[in-house]
Amino acid sequence: MNVSVVGSGYVGLVTAACFAEKGHKITCVDIDPQKIDKINNKIPPIYEEGLAEILESVVPHNLNATDDLLEAINSSQATFICVGTPCAADGQIDLTHIKKVSEQIGKILADKKNYHVVVVKSTVIPGTTQDHVIPLLESASGKTAGKDFGVVMNPEFLREGKAIIDFKKPDRVVIGSIDDESADLVEKLYYHFKAPVLRVDLKTAEMIKYTANSLLATKVSFINEVGNVCKKIGVNVYDVAQGIGLDHRISPHFLSAGPGFGGSCFPKDVSALIYKAGEVGVQPILLNAVLEVNRNQPEKVLELIEKQHEIKDSKIAVLGLAFKAGTDDVRQSPSIPIIEGLLDLGAVIQAHDFEALDATKKIFKDKITYHSEIKDALAGAELALILTEWPQYKKMDFTPMKEKKIFDTRYIINQDLLPEDVEYEGLCW
Ligand code: NAD
Repeated sequence: MNVSVVGSGYVGLVTAACFAEKGHKITCVDIDPQKIDKINNKIPPIYEEGLAEILESVVPHNLNATDDLLEAINSSQATFICVGTPCAADGQIDLTHIKKVSEQIGKILADKKNYHVVVVKSTVIPGTTQDHVIPLLESASGKTAGKDFGVVMNPEFLREGKAIIDFKKPDRVVIGSIDDESADLVEKLYYHFKAPVLRVDLKTAEMIKYTANSLLATKVSFINEVGNVCKKIGVNVYDVAQGIGLDHRISPHFLSAGPGFGGSCFPKDVSALIYKAGEVGVQPILLNAVLEVNRNQPEKVLELIEKQHEIKDSKIAVLGLAFKAGTDDVRQSPSIPIIEGLLDLGAVIQAHDFEALDATKKIFKDKITYHSEIKDALAGAELALILTEWPQYKKMDFTPMKEKKIFDTRYIINQDLLPEDVEYEGLCW
């Protein structure tokens, strides 16, 4: 099938690459010329394991990138909208990008002869596809949704860092639609992924995505809160998490205590759902608490470090900047407030990450130093602070440190293998 994908970020490019690998002809559309160039040269503009190999095999015969939306739509049967849906300062979802794209697509559909299906894959608050996307498509095209063109809401559940695996082996594919023809077309696209398909209406599809993210964020804040209690009473929260995670009603996933959730999804999606709840007169007590626990968690890291170390003028190696391992994404990463806090306390920060140095440079500029080798970040440091669970940190050599003190917020170091002169401290155990 010929498919166009608008927005070549984490979701759009992974969607495009995985469909292309299954033999579909994909055109990626983006407004960022650097991204377009990179994709056409088989270079992933984002870091995601396995993506480079897929681009290598599918560009240019099954996948190419362009800024020409008109050509992309005219040469495809379906268009996936994968642009960002950030939230405003008050938590409300910001629909600027998706509205703009909907209008542009509508204008092109006005002159398109063949049936076309528009698929909203961006995470949008319940009611958005019906109340914003469809009216914009209809007014710009002069056509009727469900009759002259199709509309589907197909939320994406991939995790950054495991995006390719998740896309290829989804737990389920959710298809929200207003007509069977377009839902059938999208279901066919996913045929090779052999996942259970759930067909619902547009608003339900949108709500499933917010509910999934809110529940996962709740699990993280829950275990972090429990972890903060564990720290005080001398219990290892990871043992507790294992003990409860073996219960099939709970599951072991998303029970890793740490410095809090970040990324471009959980914080903004929970905020947007809280805002929507308020709009419809519901006071979301639990969801507000989830965000509050998360906002406080970086503060807990700072409090504990401050108790044990003289921060002023001390060299601190910050190991891990991305909000999780396997990605270069630092959006809403807990590393940001923690580094800001340490700088306020007068620390000298030597930062390391495997993929996220460039993104972090845009935030902290010359306020900290950046190191692509762990040993250079550790050189002369009085404390190593592990913030991202990159597995490579498990086998670090602490020799370059001035004082061998480690504060591990992710519980990734095997204490039994640590040399005797290393002091090891954790966040929630
Ligand atoms: P992103 O910021 O990485 O990518 C968005 C892309 O859209 C950018 O490349 C940008 O240049 C492009 N863009 C913006 N306006 C455009 C326009 N008018 N025309 C063409 N391209 C345009 O975003 P993302 O992380 O991929 O997220 C996209 C959506 O998917 C969001 O709604 C997000 O909530 C949702 N989502 C994200 C994840 C994730 O892990 N990142 C997972 C599931 C769902």
